[in-house]
Amino acid sequence: MRVKSLEISGFKSFARKSVFEFGASISAIVGPNGSGKSNVAEALRFVLGEQSLKSMRGKRTEDLIFNGSKSIERQNRAKVTIVFDNKDRTFPVDFDEVAIAREIHRDASSEYFLNSSSVRLKDVIELLASVHIGASGHHIISQGEADRILNASPKERRAMIEDALGLKIYHWRIAESEKKLVKTEENMRASESLRREIAPHIKFLKKQVEKIEQARSLREELLVLYREYLRREETYLKHTREILKVERETLEHELRTAEEGLRAADTMRAERPDEAFGAELLRARGEIGNMRRERDDLARKIGRMEGMIESEERRLRAPVETKDKMISARESELLAEDLYNELGHAESSEDYLYIKGVVSRVRVRVGKFLEHVRGGVISTGRSEENARELEGLRAEKDTLMEAGMALETRIGTAEGRVHVLEQEMEAKRRETTGAERTSFELKARKQEVALRLDMVRGRQEAFEREEVAFREELREGGILIGRVLLTYTDFVLDEAGALAENRIEQEQRRKKIERTKIRLEDTMGGGSGEDVMREYEETVARDEFLAKELEDLKKSAESLRALVRELEEALDVQFKEGIAKINAQFGNFFALMFGGGTASLQISYEKKKKRADTDIAEGPEDEEEPEEGIDVAVNLPHKKIRGLQMLSGGERALTSIALLFAVSQVNPPPFLVLDETDAALDEANSRKYGDMIENLSKYSQLVVITHNRETMSRAGIIYGVTMGSDAVSKLLSIKFEEAAQLAK
Ligand code: ATP
Repeated sequence: MRVKSLEISGFKSFARKSVFEFGASISAIVGPNGSGKSNVAEALRFVLGEQSLKSMRGKRTEDLIFNGSKSIERQNRAKVTIVFDNKDRTFPVDFDEVAIAREIHRDASSEYFLNSSSVRLKDVIELLASVHIGASGHHIISQGEADRILNASPKERRAMIEDALGLKIYHWRIAESEKKLVKTEENMRASESLRREIAPHIKFLKKQVEKIEQARSLREELLVLYREYLRREETYLKHTREILKVERETLEHELRTAEEGLRAADTMRAERPDEAFGAELLRARGEIGNMRRERDDLARKIGRMEGMIESEERRLRAPVETKDKMISARESELLAEDLYNELGHAESSEDYLYIKGVVSRVRVRVGKFLEHVRGGVISTGRSEENARELEGLRAEKDTLMEAGMALETRIGTAEGRVHVLEQEMEAKRRETTGAERTSFELKARKQEVALRLDMVRGRQEAFEREEVAFREELREGGILIGRVLLTYTDFVLDEAGALAENRIEQEQRRKKIERTKIRLEDTMGGGSGEDVMREYEETVARDEFLAKELEDLKKSAESLRALVRELEEALDVQFKEGIAKINAQFGNFFALMFGGGTASLQISYEKKKKRADTDIAEGPEDEEEPEEGIDVAVNLPHKKIRGLQMLSGGERALTSIALLFAVSQVNPPPFLVLDETDAALDEANSRKYGDMIENLSKYSQLVVITHNRETMSRAGIIYGVTMGSDAVSKLLSIKFEEAAQLAK
């Protein structure tokens, strides 16, 4: 990688476009004072991203743009382009040439280009850093700045040396790591504070979730209990409903039957046999009495008749002549028949009076018959009149007798009727007594059935309450468990076994359900809890994420700290190695320049306040820790010199050059610009200087701005810069002799 060319346009005194081709390893820029040579070095600083206007001798951006002259107008922009050869791909870009350009305008706007594409300053700095061209510009030594390193403080010196050794990258990395560490620690604090914030919420949610989970398991438990309970209850209810229905219907039927029977019995009982038969009996008995009286009258009449007949007969028989009595067979037969009939009635009667009546009648008739047979009077017809009278009496008597007999027959018939009536009444009486008994029995039966029916009704009422309770249980369970409760019908049940079971068992189950329900209600506190579950899961996930993040952050903080330590150690090691290497070269160059003597860099320690930025760990903040700096120790031959301030201007310049070259030798920069670094050298030292730059040019491309002939003589290309009356720098490519001439 080499600097191929530098194109300057509108920058400071270079109003017009000027191009430097740095084809040689040493290029010299010569010209009279004030012609614009140093502006070339500044153009280089400028294009490499220099941000300090002071280091480019300006106060404002405008100072870098050609400001015009009497004859030439000022420019509105300044542009500088540096072209590197990148055939060896030192720059990590796939171009043979890398052209970096910077353009500024009077409004202070600044633009950067990489191979004509607009890029950011950061891109330019990163690209240059990749080839060890730092923005600090340690490889561009401005006019009068050669001994800057000697004038600097130990700390600044250390920074310069580190930069020159290419160790800036460590600082940059350390700073970057520390910045990251600060950010990481901030993030850690943020994560920790977030976790602290959500911790009580998680705790709260966890309790809720535990409750919900408990409720869930209680619900499951309840479902199990319910399934069995409901299935059994339903079976029981169905069965009981049927049984009660049958029982009730049976009893109702029985009751109706009893009532009907009772009504019939009562009706029967209400009938009064005495009333029904009494009147008729009375009437019949009255008739009989009448007829008996009539018969007695008849008997008396007959008696009288018979008396009359007897007296008549006696009269007729006056001389009494007893004759054999004559009784017709017909007469005897009639009498026998009558008696037979009458006795027949008496035999079948239980009525004592009646029987007695019959007996007396029979006795009277038999008596009369005998009387008739024994004392019969036979008319002799002596007295026809008496005989006719007798005949009349007898006829009358026979009529009376017939009437008496007819009456007797009627009496017998009436008595027979009375007898029948009495028997019927008796039968009726017996019947009524039976109905009374039946009524009594049916009443008792009715009462019993009614009692049993009442009991069944009572059971039915209780059963209805059980049914209501069942429905209520189903409803409540549904609210607590949901529709899944309806799966209770799937419960496998041995129905016969369930029906045979004591209800106490089922009651125990219901009580258990009740207890579980109460526990569940206590746990639930309303809501299904899905929201809470979700929130809990999300919050826990968030907390876990934060914990993980925190863990990662801790790890990365740890690795960053480790990295910082490593970088610091590496820096320290490399720095010390670098110092050792520089010291070897420094001593040589110094001895060469001064013809003897010694010079070295020494690490010095000065106290400073400890940084209290990166570590969150507590501790005394103001503790002092030593800070490393660099001191320069010189020992001139034959002189007793103590301290740099005792050196002459030339000696200072020589020492600076020795150190500069030593550093460049140890870590050669890609190119080095030296602006009149040789200004203070005498002829002998100029030669030594010339030797040194020639040696250095083996490692670094050199651009030297000089008035020194010796230096010019070592250059491969010499550019002359002149400035005419137009106050514009112009570029001439010239030969050495011309250059020497021009430089004067
Ligand atoms: P010396 O040999 O004395 O060191 P030099 O060749 O290095 O001189 P420079 O310092 O590079 O000279 O140039 C200074 C010149 O540049 C001055 O004449 C100054 O007027 C001119 N100059 C600086 N800035 C501008 C500007 N913005 N516009 C025009 N001219 C400028």
